[in-house]
Amino acid sequence: MTEPALDDLLGSLRVVSIPMRVNFRGVTEREVALFEGPAGWGEFGPFLEYEPAEASRWLTAAVEAAWHGWPDPVRDSVPVNATVPAVGPDAVPGVLQRFSGSTTAKVKVAERGQTTDDDVCRVGAVRDAMGPSARVRVDANGAWDVATATDVLTRLAAYDIEYAEQPCATVEELRDLRIALARSGIDVPIAADESIRKAEDPMRVRDLDAADLIVIKAAPLGGVRRALDIVAECGLPAVVSSALDTSVGMAAGVALAAALPQLDHACGLGTVFLLDGDVTADSLTPVDGALPVSRVVPDPELLDRHAASPERLTWWRDRVQSCWRHDSGMILS
Ligand SMILES: [Mg+2]
Repeated sequence: MTEPALDDLLGSLRVVSIPMRVNFRGVTEREVALFEGPAGWGEFGPFLEYEPAEASRWLTAAVEAAWHGWPDPVRDSVPVNATVPAVGPDAVPGVLQRFSGSTTAKVKVAERGQTTDDDVCRVGAVRDAMGPSARVRVDANGAWDVATATDVLTRLAAYDIEYAEQPCATVEELRDLRIALARSGIDVPIAADESIRKAEDPMRVRDLDAADLIVIKAAPLGGVRRALDIVAECGLPAVVSSALDTSVGMAAGVALAAALPQLDHACGLGTVFLLDGDVTADSLTPVDGALPVSRVVPDPELLDRHAASPERLTWWRDRVQSCWRHDSGMILS
């Protein structure tokens, strides 16, 4: 594999700024950098506040996409889940309409300012709308303590929950929750997301027996190969998810899902539509609940249309350089 030089990355660097359809994580415009290498285009889009230590893993993933390419796929399409934000039950059918063909829904729960009843009503509305054979998972983004998680999941278990994603913040809490649920005979599997992606040591989830499965993302984990290594080392079933990506970035998540030896769950990769625009006219949007496994080539006209200001281009060039230096420092030290 040829390794690029810093100038190779900067030479083809483009920065786009695309409005969001809905405010997400406080982001109204999504800015990402893109560059082209011998294997294709890579996307470098860590959120703006990330420091080099975290952002440099995203750069490694983008270099993998552009210079190294991805491992061979073992499937040619990837099922994706519908995503239901913290809306009222009446809004659920409208949200699900956008994901026609998906037989799995991920429901946001534990939203700040809402109650357990709000969560139960929303999950009930999703189960009603999708029918008994659909899979319904919930994501609490680490918001509950163990006692609250035990209570809420005991109530939600009536709706046959595929799994609960990061119900509590820490690995120890996830472990304690699994013990508490087992004692009560509540069958809701636990998935670790932030405990893998944001952790110093993702293997603590395995070592503490803290989850039934793990959620993995290509860019935050340093690329498709590194994410596959984590899955192999962890030995737990995996689900692939993504951040807010253009179709170029989303293709890395699809490549990861396509290369997993085992994939038993729909993936959170059907979110390109959250951006009000894309770098290709041929967006990676689901058809019949699945995404095709393919490389994405940006359209020059769309790169121009969404081009960020010269000031932002300079900011991103500086960011690539500091992430690059951070990584080189790690290698040298
Ligand atoms: Mg999550």
